[in-house]
Amino acid sequence: MLSKMALNALRPAGSLRKLLTSSARLLSSTPSADTARESAGSVRREPCESSSMLDIGTRRIFNEDHDIFRQTVRRFFQEHIVPYQEQWEVDGQVSRECWEKAGEMGLLGIATPEEHGGLGGDFLTSSIVLDEQSYSNCSGPGWALHSDIVMPYISHYGTKEQIDKFLPAMTAGKCIGAIGMTEPGAGSDLQGIRTNAKKDGDDYILNGSKVFITNGYMSDVVIVVAVTNPTAKTAAHGISLFLVEEGMKGFIKGKKLKKMGLKAQDTAELFFEDVRLPKSALLGQENRGFYYLMNELPQERLLIGIMAMASCEYMFEETRKYVKERKAFGKTLSKLQVIQHKLAEIKTETAIGRAFMDQCLEIHNTRGLDSSTASMAKYWASDLQNKVADRCVQLHGGWGYMQEYGICRAYTDARVQPIYGGSNEIMKELIARQVVMD
Ligand SMILES: Cc1cc2nc3c(=O)[nH]c(=O)nc-3n(C[C@H](O)[C@H](O)[C@H](O)COP(=O)(O)OP(=O)(O)OC[C@H]3O[C@@H](n4cnc5c(N)ncnc54)[C@H](O)[C@@H]3O)c2cc1C
Repeated sequence: MLSKMALNALRPAGSLRKLLTSSARLLSSTPSADTARESAGSVRREPCESSSMLDIGTRRIFNEDHDIFRQTVRRFFQEHIVPYQEQWEVDGQVSRECWEKAGEMGLLGIATPEEHGGLGGDFLTSSIVLDEQSYSNCSGPGWALHSDIVMPYISHYGTKEQIDKFLPAMTAGKCIGAIGMTEPGAGSDLQGIRTNAKKDGDDYILNGSKVFITNGYMSDVVIVVAVTNPTAKTAAHGISLFLVEEGMKGFIKGKKLKKMGLKAQDTAELFFEDVRLPKSALLGQENRGFYYLMNELPQERLLIGIMAMASCEYMFEETRKYVKERKAFGKTLSKLQVIQHKLAEIKTETAIGRAFMDQCLEIHNTRGLDSSTASMAKYWASDLQNKVADRCVQLHGGWGYMQEYGICRAYTDARVQPIYGGSNEIMKELIARQVVMD
């Protein structure tokens, strides 16, 4: 039944609307579907007003169709991701099967236009998958980067051939995408990259290396940022993007890197040794790469903010549950005022963050978020996520330090959020630049 629904959604003439309608039928007998229906037509509550901050049917930016989709996604994570997370942490990567299942269910490429091989949904719908991944506390699948970072580059700057070749397969989860900007010697200072592509007739010869590349080990296609004009008036004027494919001679994947958190998500080194790239591998125009990056990075930053806020909500609920069960000095921890005040602080700050994030989401969905506001969302929410993680581990006591408790994973996963996607120090630079602009 599920795959029929998914196939329906993925048919060329299909649409996300069909997926939602089919999901509604599929779920019409579940109690949570009733909750979603009850919310229709009435004023939607905010998460801070609800019995749980993870309740479905909340948030004014969403509607009933979104709620039904959210139920499907939530169930998908519970059935197809949560049971495998521990094994994937050992493996340092998720399975290919889970990518294809996500593709069948219509969870990938949601905001990519149908005519480009995506599902033609809006960014709000896509953000539901991000929320639900954080709520499941399973950071393994690198779907956010694949669907909402890599696919938009191809959709916005790709030729018809590139779009036809990659995007339908990416929507189906059969082609995994990655993006390689960072190098061992250049992270924040992207203009300092050394990977280069030299013209050779109509081809380019690519040399260099990338590091910390999400989905890098499993990738079938990587957008590689490379210098094409080393003598340009500024480095930014001499950078281009290339689509490098698994199996190309000279494209070597290094080891999966061992990390503090995100243990089930593959993060790899990539090496390029005289990789011969046909002209058709160039994404967009030559030497316009830096401009494309600047256009696309606000969405990447917003994604990090969205996942950070959802993680705060998850951690709050996990901790609330824990302190209501854990006994000390003859009563549950939740009876102690000092504990209650901590939870009150976490909930209040999370509610404030949620309000700002939903405002950003709404703006981005309609007219696109500007770089400065996206940087605010990324830096503030990821800092809050780390503060909340720290306090929630403390409230769990020694058990919070044990891997069998979800809060432990949430804590270690949170740490990278202020670092990647442009570090929070760089975010403040971008915000400040706009603040003092004449
Ligand atoms: C798990 C993980 C996944 C990642 N995924 C990807 C990916 O898919 N693709 C990709 O291309 N990259 C990826 N990255 C790389 C990530 O984006 C970079 O690590 C990040 O941009 C920081 O660069 P850096 O590590 O070189 O740190 P550096 O640039 O060396 O910075 C070190 C410190 O100095 C600070 N700093 C640097 N410059 C300034 C300044 N001007 N003012 C103030 N402070 C400054 C930084 O904020 C940071 O605190 C990933 C990283 C990790 C850890």
